Amino acid sequence: MIKRLPREVVARIASGQIASSPAAVLKELIENALDAKASEVKVQVETPFNFRVSDNGIGIPYRELPLAVERFTTSKIFSVEELERVTSYGFRGEALFAISQFSTLEIKSRHEAEEVGGKLVVTAGEVKEYSPIPFRRGTTVTVSNLFFNVPVRRKATSQKERSLMERLTLRYALANPHVTFKFGELTLPATSLKERLIQVTRGKPKFQLIEGDGVTLFFSREERGPRELFVNRRPVSVPEVERLLEEFGVKAFVLFMELPPEEVDFNVSPLKEKVLFKSERGVKALRELLEGEFNLPKPSVQRAKAEE
Ligand code: ADP
Ligand code: MG
Repeated sequence: MIKRLPREVVARIASGQIASSPAAVLKELIENALDAKASEVKVQVETPFNFRVSDNGIGIPYRELPLAVERFTTSKIFSVEELERVTSYGFRGEALFAISQFSTLEIKSRHEAEEVGGKLVVTAGEVKEYSPIPFRRGTTVTVSNLFFNVPVRRKATSQKERSLMERLTLRYALANPHVTFKFGELTLPATSLKERLIQVTRGKPKFQLIEGDGVTLFFSREERGPRELFVNRRPVSVPEVERLLEEFGVKAFVLFMELPPEEVDFNVSPLKEKVLFKSERGVKALRELLEGEFNLPKPSVQRAKAEE
């Protein structure tokens, strides 16, 4: 017998895919801060299940606070046309809802156009408090007791999860050099992309830079190191691109690809770490750049010949 699942079960299933780990939750909060055009994003991790993200972005209007934690409510897109060319990190309106299902979520915010701020507290999807408060411009989101109602997800060891959260923050810092990032004691002041890369990697390995049509590639063929790919500032993993870089002997890289928003689809997986290229443009530009730089037509073929 086929039956329709109750709404709250559907919500729980979908939410569990978004709020899948402390780092996944943090990712959503950082993305929201960046979408709000913050020039400073501050991450404070007490434990992997109790942490806070503060920003000085545009803030949330008081009357919209309860909407922010509802499912499929967003200020970022309003139509299919806009969905097909998203430029913000967020667009599904699911994250705060999902997080609120598995924690106590507290949002304090004041919208730039309003005099008074607001506070909203939600536990396991239920609004516990909604009141006006004095607040600076911007937003602070505090997640407490994350996964209190999903014990299996509380197994993450503290140290490991914390370092995942730090690495995640640094990834967004790389993609957004003009934003000041704080992670605990660490401060990365707003700067240029080149300087931000040095801030994040502490100068190791020594990267070379080549740039082409919509492609900015920092790489090393000598030393191992980070392997980071960003498409339109979003940290993603694209096996095809990683293989291409390997083919050219690249050991470490930080690669930024900028593509027209209508040529990429990020709506492929719950965590948006996958991307579909709707055209060959990006990969082609990267290949041309690598071929021009290294003057190596198909290194794999050469190697095969040499071995004969
Ligand atoms: P999405 O990011 O897909 O819109 P979210 O559930 O993450 O969905 O957020 C819902 C809405 O809450 C956002 O569209 C935005 O209007 C508002 N919001 C969330 N976080 C912030 C923030 N840090 N600053 C300003 N607005 C925010
Ligand atoms: Mg969001």
